[in-house]
Amino acid sequence: MWDLCYNKLNMINVKMNIRNLKLAELTDLMLKAGFPKFRAWQIYKWLSDVSVVSFDQMTNLPLGLRDFLKQTFNLNSLTLQKVLTSRDESTTKFLFKLPDGNLIESALMKYKYGYSVCVSTQVGCRMGCAFCVSGMSGFVRNLEASEILEQVVLAQKFAGTRIGRVVLMGIGEPLDNFENVARFSELVSSPEGLNIGQRNITLSTAGLVERIYDLMRLKFQITLSISLHAPNDALRSKLMPVNKTWDLLQLIAACREYFEATHRRVSFEYIMLSGVNDGLKCAAELKKLLAGFPAHVNLIPANSGRRGFKASDPQTIKMFQKHLEDLGVQVTLRRALGSDISAACGQMRCIVQGGKYGGFE
Ligand code: SF4
Repeated sequence: MWDLCYNKLNMINVKMNIRNLKLAELTDLMLKAGFPKFRAWQIYKWLSDVSVVSFDQMTNLPLGLRDFLKQTFNLNSLTLQKVLTSRDESTTKFLFKLPDGNLIESALMKYKYGYSVCVSTQVGCRMGCAFCVSGMSGFVRNLEASEILEQVVLAQKFAGTRIGRVVLMGIGEPLDNFENVARFSELVSSPEGLNIGQRNITLSTAGLVERIYDLMRLKFQITLSISLHAPNDALRSKLMPVNKTWDLLQLIAACREYFEATHRRVSFEYIMLSGVNDGLKCAAELKKLLAGFPAHVNLIPANSGRRGFKASDPQTIKMFQKHLEDLGVQVTLRRALGSDISAACGQMRCIVQGGKYGGFE
């Protein structure tokens, strides 16, 4: 498929980003262009060096090959527009401009065990979740695998050290951009590339059930994280329109199968919205929904003022968490990283484009 795509792009004189290619594909192209096979491996090594920003820095390649690469491929797609670091320095948020002028965000998070990067997979999002800022301006386009990968490369360059984990939880619905996200997962985990193991990749989805099965069939070792946010269909359909297509019964069945196929525990994200989903009745329903299944619930304190929703107060969150624990549910409370820099997805892009969501100095 990439061979065809490469030829088509060449015919219309558009350069492809070289980071889209797997090593085998690059090897194939080298051979077709008359270069020895080992050159592909050398180029690939350079691509995993985050300090490399031009083909001219690939000094062990002959000049003729560097010229060929310059004429054929792009190496960089993202331009850094803005960097914000939280007061406690736990989180840095990046705003990147794409070649077509669209903006995306990524966040670098520092934990005790190392660095984690949260990347965007689409410009905008078509899922329309009621509480989400990212989906407000609708869907614009899918990101290429290289555009997702470059977010990791640039975050690693900024951190000055290896990134250990990748979270597909930025702007967009990853499973709505299935092919590029699958390709990205292979590229980022490639031992010849950044070598971030698939077990250290978490993919967050609003619940595109058919795509969960597609992901399962790829036999990746990615951790699946479901943006659940409600324990019953009536409430979930109000908060997340995707629930009208695939309800909770179908979603949880897919999660169980994913667990059985991959042996990876599925986690469930639950944003705490005051008076909406934070009552003890909801906690009991949540327990029932996830019964008999090695699930993990991650409670997320909401940022205040999210599209008319109010954040649950810390006392309510504590009670909700305690109630789940008493019911035997594995539950954690997400650390509120970088709330002073609007670290929730979509907010920085919104501010730069003149939106009303703010909260950073
Ligand atoms: S919460 Fe996720 S899936 Fe829902 S609109 Fe926002 S980015 Fe899209």
